Amino acid sequence: MRAAIFDRDGVVNVETGYVRREADFVLVPGIEELFGRLHADGYAVFIITNQGGIDLGMYDRTWLKKLHAPLSEMGVKEIFFCPHHPLVGRCLCRKPESLFYERIKARHAVSAATMVGDRVRDLAPARKMGWKTVRIGKAHADDPPFAPDFSFADVVELNDNYLSVFAKN
Ligand SMILES: [Mg+2]
Ligand SMILES: [Zn+2]
Repeated sequence: MRAAIFDRDGVVNVETGYVRREADFVLVPGIEELFGRLHADGYAVFIITNQGGIDLGMYDRTWLKKLHAPLSEMGVKEIFFCPHHPLVGRCLCRKPESLFYERIKARHAVSAATMVGDRVRDLAPARKMGWKTVRIGKAHADDPPFAPDFSFADVVELNDNYLSVFAKN
């Protein structure tokens, strides 16, 4: 199966730091169109997100799952969230750790995949998996050296270039 894997904050929803109120969860322009197009082309869409706010006691898993309901309604197949925070303890699921990436590959027999993220630290593990990498937004000063396969200002621009990124083959 072909998979498209997304970071959440800053890619699917507007970056506002920790999202702990429903009102702060605002989808970015074009994301619904992108998911729809991917589904029409037979892609499975996944999200991998670090949600250390759970470990920090800002919100809990039940609330987070409710927050994600609209994404499931948009056809997102599975949302993997790391509830851990490095101040509380280490884990193997917080990006850039690759546990969730490997889980997707193993559970869903992924033949080809593309990862879309706003931080290259999320893209580095994807490249190690052999996946295509797409950065949304600008480079950051603390980015590790990494050249994404594609780089776009925003999801609208990604949609404009959909066919070159998600080429049928
Ligand atoms: Mg992000
Ligand atoms: Zn974790």
